[in-house]
Amino acid sequence: MSDPKQTSLTPQTSLVHSSYRAPDGFEAFPVGIHHASTVLFPDVAAMRSRDWREKLGYTYGLHGTPTSFVLEARLAEIEGGKYCRVTPSGLAAIAMVNFAFLKSGDDVLLPDNVYGPSKDLGQWLERDFQITARFYDPMIGEGLAELIRPTTRLVWTEAPGSVSMEVPDIPALCRAAHAKGVLVAIDNTWSAGIAFKAFEHGVDIVMQAVTKYQSGGSDVLMGAVIVRDQALNEKLELAHMRLGFGVGMDDVYMVLRSLSSMRLRFEAHDAAARKVAAWLKQRPEIVAVLHPAFEDCPGHAHWKRDFSGAGGLFSVIFDPRYVEAQTDRFVDSLRLFKIGYSWGGAHSLCVPYRMKGMRRAWMREGQLVRFNIGLESPEDLIADIEQALARL
Ligand SMILES: *Cc1c(COP(=O)(O)O)cnc(C)c1O
Repeated sequence: MSDPKQTSLTPQTSLVHSSYRAPDGFEAFPVGIHHASTVLFPDVAAMRSRDWREKLGYTYGLHGTPTSFVLEARLAEIEGGKYCRVTPSGLAAIAMVNFAFLKSGDDVLLPDNVYGPSKDLGQWLERDFQITARFYDPMIGEGLAELIRPTTRLVWTEAPGSVSMEVPDIPALCRAAHAKGVLVAIDNTWSAGIAFKAFEHGVDIVMQAVTKYQSGGSDVLMGAVIVRDQALNEKLELAHMRLGFGVGMDDVYMVLRSLSSMRLRFEAHDAAARKVAAWLKQRPEIVAVLHPAFEDCPGHAHWKRDFSGAGGLFSVIFDPRYVEAQTDRFVDSLRLFKIGYSWGGAHSLCVPYRMKGMRRAWMREGQLVRFNIGLESPEDLIADIEQALARL
């Protein structure tokens, strides 16, 4: 391609092919936002020799630009992994793992308290893709071995599980799966990769909903899958490409901008959540605080052994004398806590859940309400909860 510097270009063309290049040597802390669908090659030989899988050069926007390569490297580093691919949402990251490692005739095991849409995806795989998806008791530990079939290829874990917050024995689940050559994936969103080092506890594939703490702004949807093993990475890269899971670079930049404060935010969420949870624990209206750092929470001992912190998310169970209409009124009466899905941002949230429809073997009586503690003062949050409890 010759450089179109000729003055003979019409204005229409020179608007497209400008010869001006900004000078090299610009340095600043932020990573540049490189938008691209088309990536240019200097010549045909370069085009033919570049392999998108190697991430040594750039080939097409779908496979990333310098902006997303930096985010992927940082997310891998946080988890102690080697390879990372970002996806358009956390759920897309879950789908990518399933499509990378499962095919028709295979079997996948998911914990009964897995993130709801992940459960639905498993059921879809079973209904329409000739893959069996079975749900196990998250507290089964080594007993998982008995559930593994010759066709089992993948075991999903989540620590703690969504909404009901049980902390599984991840090393025991990994031992049981690995003894039969089965891969273990974790949805590690709750810990943000900060409070739980999944690879060090035996997990093969780490998934993150970057939407939550990594973004921290309640404004970006993104996911990530991180691995240490090159062979696993190759399968994930192929799935990422085949599914067309490109991400927008403005979103990538927003996550990069938030990432440097993630640890401080996480610690603030953690400290405030423990204060609010401790206050709730001594209230007569509450019979259980399902926060992994509290003894009420199933798997608390696993949390103590394997985790170095907690996030801002926990649930409580109300005394069974309160019916749903009353706990709904409690949630509606909150002023600082807003009602909404997702979490990990600066704003506190509160959502009531109907557990009997969500879990196969939910034995507990009493309404469950989930809190996401944001970055407000815990004293103000407690005062808000106190006035709402008075309206039960
Ligand atoms: C939010 C969430 C997801 C999904 O992330 P999205 O970006 O909303 O698709 C997956 N797992 C857990 C545990 C989550 O909290």
